[in-house]
Amino acid sequence: MKVPMVDLTAGYPPIREEIESAVKKVFEKANFILGTQVTEFEQAFAKHNGAKYAVGVNSGTDALRLALLACGIKPGDEVITTPFTFIATSETISQTGAVPVFADIDPVTYTLSPESVEKKITSKTRAILPVHLYGMAAEMDKLIAIAKKHNLKIIEDTAQAFTGKYRLADGTWKYLGSIGDCGTFSFFPAKNLGAFGDAGAVLTNDDKIYEELKALRNHGSKVRYIHEIEGFNSRLDTVQAAILGVRLKYVEKWTEMRNTVAAKYAAALKGICITPVVPDNRRHSFNYYTIRFETKEQRDNAQKYLTEQGIANQIYYPIALHLQKAYAHLGGKRGDLPNAEKVQDTVFSLPMFPELTDEQIKIVTDAVKDSMAK
Ligand SMILES: *Cc1c(COP(=O)(O)O)cnc(C)c1O
Repeated sequence: MKVPMVDLTAGYPPIREEIESAVKKVFEKANFILGTQVTEFEQAFAKHNGAKYAVGVNSGTDALRLALLACGIKPGDEVITTPFTFIATSETISQTGAVPVFADIDPVTYTLSPESVEKKITSKTRAILPVHLYGMAAEMDKLIAIAKKHNLKIIEDTAQAFTGKYRLADGTWKYLGSIGDCGTFSFFPAKNLGAFGDAGAVLTNDDKIYEELKALRNHGSKVRYIHEIEGFNSRLDTVQAAILGVRLKYVEKWTEMRNTVAAKYAAALKGICITPVVPDNRRHSFNYYTIRFETKEQRDNAQKYLTEQGIANQIYYPIALHLQKAYAHLGGKRGDLPNAEKVQDTVFSLPMFPELTDEQIKIVTDAVKDSMAK
Protein backbone atom coordinates (compact mmCIF):
# COMPACT_ATOMS: atom_id res chain seq x y z
CA MET A 1 0.00 0.00 0.00
CA LYS A 2 1.25 3.44 -0.90
CA VAL A 3 1.77 6.01 1.85
CA PRO A 4 2.08 9.69 0.88
CA MET A 5 4.39 12.22 2.55
CA VAL A 6 1.44 14.45 3.44
CA ASP A 7 -2.26 14.18 2.68
CA LEU A 8 -3.55 17.72 2.28
CA THR A 9 -7.03 16.48 1.29
CA ALA A 10 -7.60 14.75 4.65
CA GLY A 11 -7.95 17.93 6.70
CA TYR A 12 -10.55 19.61 4.51
CA PRO A 13 -13.83 17.58 4.70
CA PRO A 14 -14.27 17.91 8.51
CA ILE A 15 -14.18 21.75 8.29
CA ARG A 16 -15.45 22.25 4.74
CA GLU A 17 -18.55 24.25 5.68
CA GLU A 18 -16.72 26.60 8.02
CA ILE A 19 -14.07 27.32 5.41
CA GLU A 20 -16.54 27.82 2.59
CA SER A 21 -18.68 30.19 4.59
CA ALA A 22 -15.59 32.23 5.65
CA VAL A 23 -14.41 32.51 2.05
CA LYS A 24 -17.90 33.40 0.80
CA LYS A 25 -17.98 36.38 3.14
CA VAL A 26 -14.83 37.74 1.52
CA PHE A 27 -16.29 37.20 -1.96
CA GLU A 28 -19.52 38.96 -1.06
CA LYS A 29 -17.85 42.00 0.51
CA ALA A 30 -15.08 42.04 -2.11
CA ASN A 31 -12.63 43.45 0.44
CA PHE A 32 -9.82 41.49 -1.16
CA ILE A 33 -6.85 43.66 -0.19
CA LEU A 34 -6.08 44.00 3.54
CA GLY A 35 -9.70 43.22 4.42
CA THR A 36 -10.93 42.92 7.99
CA GLN A 37 -10.13 39.18 7.96
CA VAL A 38 -6.43 40.02 7.71
CA THR A 39 -6.52 42.12 10.90
CA GLU A 40 -8.70 39.53 12.63
CA PHE A 41 -6.29 36.75 11.76
CA GLU A 42 -3.26 38.81 12.80
CA GLN A 43 -4.82 39.49 16.19
CA ALA A 44 -5.82 35.85 16.72
CA PHE A 45 -2.39 34.61 15.60
CA ALA A 46 -0.52 37.03 17.89
CA LYS A 47 -2.76 36.07 20.82
CA HIS A 48 -2.29 32.35 20.17
CA ASN A 49 1.47 32.81 20.32
CA GLY A 50 1.47 35.13 23.31
CA ALA A 51 3.08 37.89 21.22
CA LYS A 52 2.18 41.56 21.03
CA TYR A 53 1.88 41.85 17.24
CA ALA A 54 1.54 39.76 14.10
CA VAL A 55 1.87 41.11 10.57
CA GLY A 56 0.43 38.98 7.75
CA VAL A 57 2.56 38.76 4.61
CA ASN A 58 2.44 36.80 1.38
CA SER A 59 4.87 33.97 2.22
CA GLY A 60 7.33 32.62 4.75
CA THR A 61 10.12 33.83 2.51
CA ASP A 62 8.89 37.42 2.56
CA ALA A 63 8.35 37.11 6.30
CA LEU A 64 12.10 36.52 6.59
CA ARG A 65 13.00 39.27 4.13
CA LEU A 66 10.83 41.87 5.86
CA ALA A 67 11.94 40.79 9.33
CA LEU A 68 15.60 41.22 8.36
CA LEU A 69 14.92 44.70 6.97
CA ALA A 70 12.76 45.71 9.94
CA CYS A 71 15.58 44.60 12.26
CA GLY A 72 17.86 47.03 10.44
CA ILE A 73 20.01 44.56 8.50
CA LYS A 74 21.92 46.45 5.82
CA PRO A 75 24.33 45.73 2.94
CA GLY A 76 27.66 44.43 4.24
CA ASP A 77 26.25 43.18 7.54
CA GLU A 78 26.72 39.55 8.53
CA VAL A 79 23.90 37.32 9.74
CA ILE A 80 24.81 33.98 11.30
CA THR A 81 22.52 31.09 10.43
CA THR A 82 22.38 27.33 9.97
CA PRO A 83 23.44 25.62 6.74
CA PHE A 84 20.95 22.82 7.42
CA THR A 85 17.73 24.46 6.27
CA PHE A 86 15.71 25.47 3.23
CA ILE A 87 17.46 28.10 1.12
CA ALA A 88 14.79 30.73 1.86
CA THR A 89 16.52 31.20 5.22
CA SER A 90 19.76 32.38 3.62
CA GLU A 91 18.67 33.82 0.26
CA THR A 92 16.67 36.48 2.08
CA ILE A 93 19.82 37.45 4.01
CA SER A 94 21.69 37.89 0.71
CA GLN A 95 18.76 39.79 -0.79
CA THR A 96 19.06 42.49 1.86
CA GLY A 97 22.68 42.88 0.74
CA ALA A 98 23.97 41.19 3.87
CA VAL A 99 26.14 38.06 3.97
CA PRO A 100 24.89 34.74 5.35
CA VAL A 101 27.54 33.21 7.62
CA PHE A 102 26.96 29.52 8.21
CA ALA A 103 27.67 28.03 11.64
CA ASP A 104 27.48 24.32 12.43
CA ILE A 105 24.52 22.45 13.92
CA ASP A 106 24.02 20.44 17.06
CA PRO A 107 24.36 16.73 16.17
CA VAL A 108 21.35 15.70 18.29
CA THR A 109 18.69 18.36 17.59
CA TYR A 110 20.09 19.40 14.16
CA THR A 111 19.52 23.06 15.09
CA LEU A 112 22.06 25.89 15.18
CA SER A 113 24.92 25.19 17.60
CA PRO A 114 25.42 28.17 19.96
CA GLU A 115 29.08 27.22 20.43
CA SER A 116 29.66 27.35 16.69
CA VAL A 117 27.74 30.65 16.41
CA GLU A 118 30.02 32.26 18.96
CA LYS A 119 33.08 31.33 16.89
CA LYS A 120 31.63 33.01 13.78
CA ILE A 121 31.01 36.42 15.33
CA THR A 122 32.94 39.33 13.79
CA SER A 123 32.69 43.12 14.00
CA LYS A 124 30.18 42.94 11.12
CA THR A 125 27.76 40.50 12.76
CA ARG A 126 24.33 42.07 13.32
CA ALA A 127 21.94 39.16 13.85
CA ILE A 128 21.51 35.46 14.55
CA LEU A 129 18.90 33.59 12.51
CA PRO A 130 18.14 30.21 14.09
CA VAL A 131 15.73 27.79 12.37
CA HIS A 132 13.41 25.65 14.48
CA LEU A 133 14.06 22.73 12.18
CA TYR A 134 11.33 20.15 11.53
CA GLY A 135 9.43 21.75 14.45
CA MET A 136 12.22 21.36 17.04
CA ALA A 137 13.24 24.49 18.94
CA ALA A 138 16.77 25.78 18.59
CA GLU A 139 18.67 26.27 21.86
CA MET A 140 17.22 29.70 22.59
CA ASP A 141 18.65 30.36 26.08
CA LYS A 142 22.23 30.16 24.84
CA LEU A 143 21.50 32.09 21.65
CA ILE A 144 19.82 34.87 23.65
CA ALA A 145 22.86 35.10 25.93
CA ILE A 146 25.19 35.40 22.92
CA ALA A 147 22.94 38.01 21.29
CA LYS A 148 22.86 40.09 24.48
CA LYS A 149 26.62 39.91 24.89
CA HIS A 150 27.31 41.07 21.32
CA ASN A 151 24.26 43.31 20.84
CA LEU A 152 22.73 41.22 18.05
CA LYS A 153 19.15 40.80 16.88
CA ILE A 154 17.51 37.38 16.86
CA ILE A 155 15.15 36.39 14.06
CA GLU A 156 13.55 32.97 14.52
CA ASP A 157 12.70 31.10 11.32
CA THR A 158 9.58 29.37 12.61
CA ALA A 159 8.31 28.22 9.18
CA GLN A 160 8.28 24.59 10.32
CA ALA A 161 7.51 25.12 13.97
CA PHE A 162 4.24 26.92 14.63
CA THR A 163 2.81 25.36 17.86
CA GLY A 164 6.30 24.29 18.94
CA LYS A 165 7.36 25.59 22.35
CA TYR A 166 10.47 26.24 24.42
CA ARG A 167 10.85 26.58 28.18
CA LEU A 168 13.21 29.44 28.93
CA ALA A 169 15.75 29.24 31.75
CA ASP A 170 13.39 31.29 33.95
CA GLY A 171 10.82 28.49 33.65
CA THR A 172 8.30 30.19 31.34
CA TRP A 173 7.05 28.26 28.30
CA LYS A 174 7.06 30.30 25.10
CA TYR A 175 5.68 29.62 21.67
CA LEU A 176 8.46 29.49 19.10
CA GLY A 177 8.68 32.69 17.10
CA SER A 178 7.61 34.82 20.08
CA ILE A 179 11.03 34.81 21.78
CA GLY A 180 13.39 36.77 19.49
CA ASP A 181 13.08 40.27 18.00
CA CYS A 182 11.03 38.72 15.18
CA GLY A 183 9.61 35.27 14.50
CA THR A 184 8.79 34.40 10.90
CA PHE A 185 6.11 31.92 9.82
CA SER A 186 5.10 30.20 6.61
CA PHE A 187 1.56 29.07 5.89
CA PHE A 188 2.63 27.11 2.80
CA PRO A 189 0.01 24.34 2.54
CA ALA A 190 2.24 21.57 3.94
CA LYS A 191 3.29 23.47 7.09
CA ASN A 192 1.60 22.94 10.48
CA LEU A 193 -0.88 25.72 9.73
CA GLY A 194 -1.38 25.63 5.98
CA ALA A 195 -3.23 28.16 3.84
CA PHE A 196 -4.82 27.23 0.50
CA GLY A 197 -1.93 28.88 -1.31
CA ASP A 198 1.05 31.00 -0.26
CA ALA A 199 0.94 33.03 2.96
CA GLY A 200 3.12 33.97 5.92
CA ALA A 201 3.41 36.16 9.00
CA VAL A 202 5.91 37.85 11.29
CA LEU A 203 5.56 38.06 15.07
CA THR A 204 7.17 40.80 17.15
CA ASN A 205 6.83 42.37 20.60
CA ASP A 206 8.55 45.58 19.50
CA ASP A 207 6.39 48.62 18.58
CA LYS A 208 8.95 50.08 16.20
CA ILE A 209 9.62 46.82 14.35
CA TYR A 210 5.86 46.31 14.07
CA GLU A 211 5.33 49.70 12.42
CA GLU A 212 8.25 49.04 10.08
CA LEU A 213 6.89 45.62 9.06
CA LYS A 214 3.45 47.04 8.30
CA ALA A 215 4.99 49.71 6.08
CA LEU A 216 7.42 47.33 4.34
CA ARG A 217 4.69 44.89 3.28
CA ASN A 218 2.68 47.71 1.69
CA HIS A 219 5.12 49.74 -0.44
CA GLY A 220 6.65 51.46 2.56
CA SER A 221 3.57 53.53 3.27
CA LYS A 222 1.85 54.02 6.60
CA VAL A 223 -0.51 56.60 5.16
CA ARG A 224 -1.73 55.98 1.62
CA TYR A 225 0.53 57.52 -1.05
CA ILE A 226 2.92 58.90 1.59
CA HIS A 227 6.22 57.00 1.44
CA GLU A 228 9.01 57.57 3.95
CA ILE A 229 10.73 54.44 2.65
CA GLU A 230 10.39 52.03 -0.28
CA GLY A 231 8.75 48.72 0.46
CA PHE A 232 7.17 45.76 -1.29
CA ASN A 233 3.85 44.36 -2.32
CA SER A 234 3.85 41.59 0.27
CA ARG A 235 0.41 41.68 1.82
CA LEU A 236 -1.39 38.65 3.24
CA ASP A 237 -4.29 37.91 0.90
CA THR A 238 -7.72 38.36 2.51
CA VAL A 239 -9.08 35.03 1.20
CA GLN A 240 -6.08 33.22 2.71
CA ALA A 241 -6.52 35.12 5.98
CA ALA A 242 -10.16 34.00 6.18
CA ILE A 243 -9.11 30.36 5.65
CA LEU A 244 -6.27 30.65 8.16
CA GLY A 245 -8.63 32.13 10.73
CA VAL A 246 -10.77 28.98 10.56
CA ARG A 247 -7.85 26.55 10.51
CA LEU A 248 -6.08 28.27 13.42
CA LYS A 249 -8.76 26.89 15.77
CA TYR A 250 -7.77 23.31 14.91
CA VAL A 251 -3.99 23.59 14.75
CA GLU A 252 -3.30 22.61 18.38
CA LYS A 253 -5.36 19.45 17.90
CA TRP A 254 -3.44 18.66 14.71
CA THR A 255 -0.11 19.11 16.52
CA GLU A 256 -1.31 16.73 19.24
CA MET A 257 -2.17 14.22 16.51
CA ARG A 258 1.28 14.71 14.95
CA ASN A 259 2.89 14.10 18.36
CA THR A 260 0.83 10.90 18.73
CA VAL A 261 2.04 9.68 15.32
CA ALA A 262 5.61 10.57 16.33
CA ALA A 263 5.34 8.58 19.56
CA LYS A 264 4.11 5.53 17.62
CA TYR A 265 6.94 5.89 15.10
CA ALA A 266 9.49 6.16 17.92
CA ALA A 267 8.15 3.08 19.72
CA ALA A 268 8.20 0.97 16.56
CA LEU A 269 11.65 2.13 15.44
CA LYS A 270 13.37 1.81 18.81
CA GLY A 271 16.77 0.17 18.34
CA ILE A 272 16.40 0.24 14.53
CA CYS A 273 17.49 3.79 13.76
CA ILE A 274 17.94 7.13 15.54
CA THR A 275 14.57 8.79 16.17
CA PRO A 276 14.03 12.46 17.15
CA VAL A 277 15.25 13.33 20.64
CA VAL A 278 12.99 15.94 22.23
CA PRO A 279 14.61 17.62 25.28
CA ASP A 280 12.13 18.08 28.15
CA ASN A 281 12.20 21.88 27.78
CA ARG A 282 10.69 21.72 24.27
CA ARG A 283 7.45 20.83 22.54
CA HIS A 284 8.03 19.58 19.01
CA SER A 285 5.52 20.56 16.31
CA PHE A 286 6.52 17.59 14.08
CA ASN A 287 6.11 19.32 10.77
CA TYR A 288 8.53 16.61 9.64
CA TYR A 289 9.49 13.29 11.24
CA THR A 290 13.16 12.71 10.50
CA ILE A 291 15.16 9.57 11.26
CA ARG A 292 18.91 9.10 11.15
CA PHE A 293 21.22 6.16 10.49
CA GLU A 294 24.79 5.38 11.52
CA THR A 295 26.05 5.39 7.94
CA LYS A 296 25.17 6.93 4.59
CA GLU A 297 24.95 3.43 3.09
CA GLN A 298 22.27 2.39 5.59
CA ARG A 299 20.37 5.60 4.91
CA ASP A 300 20.55 5.20 1.16
CA ASN A 301 19.46 1.54 1.37
CA ALA A 302 16.53 2.31 3.63
CA GLN A 303 15.42 5.21 1.48
CA LYS A 304 15.64 3.15 -1.72
CA TYR A 305 13.68 0.31 -0.12
CA LEU A 306 10.88 2.60 1.05
CA THR A 307 10.64 4.18 -2.38
CA GLU A 308 10.35 0.72 -3.98
CA GLN A 309 7.49 -0.09 -1.58
CA GLY A 310 5.61 3.08 -2.62
CA ILE A 311 6.28 4.80 0.69
CA ALA A 312 7.01 8.49 0.21
CA ASN A 313 10.14 9.87 1.84
CA GLN A 314 12.35 12.91 1.47
CA ILE A 315 15.76 14.13 2.56
CA TYR A 316 15.46 17.51 4.26
CA TYR A 317 18.12 18.60 3.25
CA PRO A 318 20.49 16.62 0.99
CA ILE A 319 23.14 19.35 0.52
CA ALA A 320 23.93 21.74 3.35
CA LEU A 321 23.86 25.34 2.13
CA HIS A 322 27.60 26.02 2.52
CA LEU A 323 28.18 23.27 -0.08
CA GLN A 324 25.56 24.51 -2.58
CA LYS A 325 26.67 26.00 -5.86
CA ALA A 326 24.65 29.13 -5.07
CA TYR A 327 27.12 29.84 -2.24
CA ALA A 328 30.34 28.83 -4.00
CA HIS A 329 31.40 32.50 -3.85
CA LEU A 330 31.51 32.25 -0.04
CA GLY A 331 34.20 29.59 -0.36
CA GLY A 332 32.58 26.84 1.75
CA LYS A 333 33.98 23.34 1.40
CA ARG A 334 33.60 19.83 2.78
CA GLY A 335 35.00 19.62 6.28
CA ASP A 336 34.01 23.17 7.28
CA LEU A 337 30.85 22.20 9.19
CA PRO A 338 31.22 18.50 10.03
CA ASN A 339 27.97 18.00 11.94
CA ALA A 340 25.81 19.43 9.15
CA GLU A 341 27.68 17.34 6.60
CA LYS A 342 27.28 14.15 8.61
CA VAL A 343 23.58 14.76 9.18
CA GLN A 344 22.81 15.61 5.52
CA ASP A 345 24.28 12.21 4.61
CA THR A 346 22.46 10.12 7.20
CA VAL A 347 18.88 11.43 7.58
CA PHE A 348 15.61 11.23 5.76
CA SER A 349 12.03 12.04 6.68
CA LEU A 350 9.04 9.72 6.83
CA PRO A 351 5.41 10.47 5.93
CA MET A 352 3.97 12.82 8.56
CA PHE A 353 0.50 14.34 8.83
CA PRO A 354 -2.13 14.42 11.59
CA GLU A 355 -4.44 11.82 10.03
CA LEU A 356 -1.78 9.12 9.46
CA THR A 357 -3.41 5.80 10.48
CA ASP A 358 -1.98 2.99 12.62
CA GLU A 359 -2.02 0.78 9.53
CA GLN A 360 0.04 3.32 7.57
CA ILE A 361 2.45 3.75 10.50
CA LYS A 362 2.97 -0.01 10.60
CA ILE A 363 3.61 -0.21 6.86
CA VAL A 364 6.21 2.55 7.12
CA THR A 365 7.99 1.23 10.20
CA ASP A 366 7.97 -2.38 8.95
CA ALA A 367 9.61 -1.20 5.75
CA VAL A 368 12.35 0.62 7.69
CA LYS A 369 12.93 -2.54 9.77
CA ASP A 370 13.02 -4.76 6.68
CA SER A 371 15.52 -2.47 5.00
CA MET A 372 17.86 -2.80 7.98
CA ALA A 373 17.58 -6.62 7.99
CA LYS A 374 18.56 -6.87 4.32
C1 LIG B 1 8.90 26.69 4.07
C2 LIG B 1 10.08 27.36 4.63
C3 LIG B 1 10.38 28.71 4.34
C4 LIG B 1 9.69 29.50 3.26
O1 LIG B 1 8.32 29.60 3.37
P1 LIG B 1 7.42 29.91 2.07
O2 LIG B 1 6.08 30.22 2.65
O3 LIG B 1 7.43 28.69 1.23
O4 LIG B 1 8.01 31.08 1.38
C5 LIG B 1 11.43 29.30 5.02
N1 LIG B 1 12.18 28.62 5.89
C6 LIG B 1 11.95 27.31 6.17
C7 LIG B 1 12.81 26.62 7.18
C8 LIG B 1 10.90 26.65 5.54
O5 LIG B 1 10.69 25.36 5.80
